[in-house]
Amino acid sequence: MPDLPPYVWALILGALVVGILAGHFGWGRRWPRGLGRFHAEYLTGLDYLISEQPDRALDSFLKVMDANADTLETHFALGSLYRRRGEVERAIRVHRNLLARGLSPEHREQARLALAQDYLRAGLLDRAEGLLRQVSEGTRLRARALEALRVIYERQRDWTQALDAHRRLAALDAAPPPAVAAHYQCELATYHLERGDVDEARRLLRRARREVAVFPRAAVLRAQIAEREGNAALAVRLLAWALQESPRLLHDEFAHLLRLAGDGSRDKLLEDLVSRAEQRDFGELKGLVFAALALSLAHAAPLRTSIEKVIRLEPTLNAVREAAGGAPFEYVAAEIGALLARAETYRCADCGFAARRFYWQCPGCQSWDSFETYVIIQLR
Ligand SMILES: [Zn+2]
Repeated sequence: MPDLPPYVWALILGALVVGILAGHFGWGRRWPRGLGRFHAEYLTGLDYLISEQPDRALDSFLKVMDANADTLETHFALGSLYRRRGEVERAIRVHRNLLARGLSPEHREQARLALAQDYLRAGLLDRAEGLLRQVSEGTRLRARALEALRVIYERQRDWTQALDAHRRLAALDAAPPPAVAAHYQCELATYHLERGDVDEARRLLRRARREVAVFPRAAVLRAQIAEREGNAALAVRLLAWALQESPRLLHDEFAHLLRLAGDGSRDKLLEDLVSRAEQRDFGELKGLVFAALALSLAHAAPLRTSIEKVIRLEPTLNAVREAAGGAPFEYVAAEIGALLARAETYRCADCGFAARRFYWQCPGCQSWDSFETYVIIQLR
């Protein structure tokens, strides 16, 4: 782009601003057919201009634009355009420039929220938090500010504050599902358990179950408490229930459960798990069989029929069986077990993040309960 004198920049930007305002205030609707498209074209033009000479364009823009009521929307549009493009420093300049001028309380809230979003994007959580707290005291943008605060507290693993934001959002009918609050209670319970405060952990787990009645994570933690207090029978009951409600926990908790049950009640436990999985669906049975084979449990009598069935019906496993050319069942099961132990085990249904261990909250996209069992068997 040629080096234009400042007044030409001012003229170009002035024209763009008129175009943007036309779009924002709906002038295009009164224009002849076809002219309404101008808004999008002006935005594209603005986008192009700031791509070619970003700082120059912004300097001129801020000079041309007084933050009077007519140009405010254009400021906000430009700021969010910069943020969307990842040019956070420029977005911050636009929004701070706005805040430095005398704004109505309503517009000041909007500018604070926009600036907080810039800070969030830049990873400046403390600054974002300060602004969002101010916005959350108002009424108009309270829900958006509280939601952003909730996300910040999650990132900081400040579960008490996250819980508080969730509660305030619930009062506005704008909260994420109750399971998210139950996870916060479980995070806090884990914290107290690690410090030996079992009573506080129990209290928090009761609250988690008040949020969501069927909540396997709370049962896993209660099983830990029971185990710590020497009540293995209760720990087995709780953990077995959690695995039945949430079979994806098998990979991480199955071996632990079998150890707790001990040799005496192991077969009874396996029988219960198999019959429940057979009643539900093939996917669940497959998960149980995969976990058992990965733990070299092929010899356990209650599992034998189901293992044979899954190997026969699952094409990849059947290929292993056929390649073994009539080798004994134990040999085939051991081969498959070795393949499964190497297979990838979890993946986030929302963002695809893959991991060997289970996470209640995805480390990639921060979704709760999005991890699913995922097995890729690579034949040698
Ligand atoms: Zn994810």
